Amino acid sequence: MQLRRDVPIFFFLLITIFLLILLFQLHYTVDPSTRAGLSKLIKNQKFRILTNKYSSLWYQTNCFQVQQSQKLVLEKLPEYLKNSHSSKNEICRQFATIFNALFHLDEIYGSLKLSPIYLKKINQWLHNNDVLLEQIRKQRIIKVYNRYTHEEMLYNYMRSQRPQTKSEISSESYTSKLLEDSKKNCDFCGKNYLNSTAEDTFGRLEHRLSYTAANTFKYDRWHTLIVSRNHDTLHLTEDEIVDMFELTKEWFRKAHSIEPMYACPEMIWDAMPKSGASQMHTHLQASLGFDIYYGNIERIRQGARLYAQLNNGRNYFSDYLSVHQILGLTIPVGNAHIVVHLTPIKDLEIMIMGEKLERNFYKALHLVFRTFVDDLNEYSFSLGMYLPPMNESSSNGHDIPVVCRLVFRNPVTNLRSDINGLDLYTSSVIGKDRYILHQQLKDSIYKRLK
Ligand SMILES: [Zn+2]
Repeated sequence: MQLRRDVPIFFFLLITIFLLILLFQLHYTVDPSTRAGLSKLIKNQKFRILTNKYSSLWYQTNCFQVQQSQKLVLEKLPEYLKNSHSSKNEICRQFATIFNALFHLDEIYGSLKLSPIYLKKINQWLHNNDVLLEQIRKQRIIKVYNRYTHEEMLYNYMRSQRPQTKSEISSESYTSKLLEDSKKNCDFCGKNYLNSTAEDTFGRLEHRLSYTAANTFKYDRWHTLIVSRNHDTLHLTEDEIVDMFELTKEWFRKAHSIEPMYACPEMIWDAMPKSGASQMHTHLQASLGFDIYYGNIERIRQGARLYAQLNNGRNYFSDYLSVHQILGLTIPVGNAHIVVHLTPIKDLEIMIMGEKLERNFYKALHLVFRTFVDDLNEYSFSLGMYLPPMNESSSNGHDIPVVCRLVFRNPVTNLRSDINGLDLYTSSVIGKDRYILHQQLKDSIYKRLK
C-alpha cells in the first residue's frame, strides 16, 4: 500500500526535474552585452592614446631586428612577431603578447602548376621578372584575423600584379566632367535645397558653409543629411570640412535633447557614383541610434567589451592603436591618429582615431583627402564614422573613441564593381602592402604640414 501511495509523488518529482532541465536548456541570453556579470567587478579602462615609451623605430631595430636603413614590409610581419616574441627584452615580448591578444597571424602557401603556353602568357604580364615568376609559383599569403571584431585580411602581393584593363578616358577627366555636368540641375546647390529637400521636425539647421536636410527616405527615426554648400565633394577646404562636422555635432545635440534615449551618433558619407552615392553634391548622412549602434559598429563595440573582460579591463581601442603605432603604421596629426590598419576592407582603407571630434581630427581628414585625390588620383570614397555615446559622462573619457573609416573606391571609370562576393561574404583580399600605403600617406601629409 505504501508503495502505491508513493508512485504519484515519484512521478511528480520526475516531471519537476524534467521541467527544470528543460527550462535550463531553453535559457538564452537575450543581450550578450549583459552576459558576463563577473566583468562588472573589473573596472574597464577608458580609451587613451597610450604614449609608448619607445618609438616605432626603436621597436624596429630592437624587437623586429630590422636595421634603421631598411624599410618594414608586410611580407615579413610573421618574422617581426617571431623576433619580438623570442626577444630577451621584456618590452618586445610585451608587444608580441598584446598583438597576439588582438590578432591571429598566419602564413599560408599556395602552389601553382603552369603549362608552358600559359607560362609564356604569365611572363608577359610580369614583364619577364624572374623574382615575380618564382613568387607566383609558390604564393605566400599573410592572414591577419582580428579575434574580437572578426575582421580579416588575406594579403598576397601577387594580387596587385594582376593585369588590369585600361580605360580610354582618364579617371581625372571622367570625374571632372561628372562633377561639372551634375552642377547644372543640382537640388542641393545655391538656394535650390529650400524647395527640393525636406526638413527635420525641429526645422533646418544652417551654417555659413553647410546646412541640414532631413532625408526624404529615412533609414532611422533620427536621420538627416548634412550638406556642404560646396558641390565638389573631392575638393573641400579644411574650413568646409570643419563646418560640416560641427553642424553634424549640433544636429546630434538637438535630436538627443528632444529624445535622450537616442544617443549613439553615426555618420556615413559616399562620394561619387563608384561608392554608391545617389547625389553628386557633397552630403553626409547622420543618424542617432537608440541605445545601441548599427550592427557593424555594435559588433566592434561588443568585441571591445569582450576584450576588456578577458584582458583585465584593458581598453581594446587603446591597445589596437598602440599596436599599430609600434608597427609603424600610424601618422599623428596632433592628437588625432591616421591608422593604416591591418584588417582593411579593401586596399585603400584607412582609419582616423581620436578622443574627440575636433580641429586635429578635421585636419587629419582633410590631409587624407588631399593625399588620395591630389597625389594618388583616387576620386571616389565611402566613409563610416562613430562618436562615443551621448548619454555617457565624458569627464573621465569614453570606452570608445571617435573612429572614422575611409575607403577609396576604384577604378572609377570601370563598370566592374570593386566589391564582390569575396568582400561581401568571406574575407578581405589585399594586394597592396600596408607599409607602402603608409609611406605614400606619410610623404603626402608631411609635405603639406611643412
Ligand atoms: Zn550641387
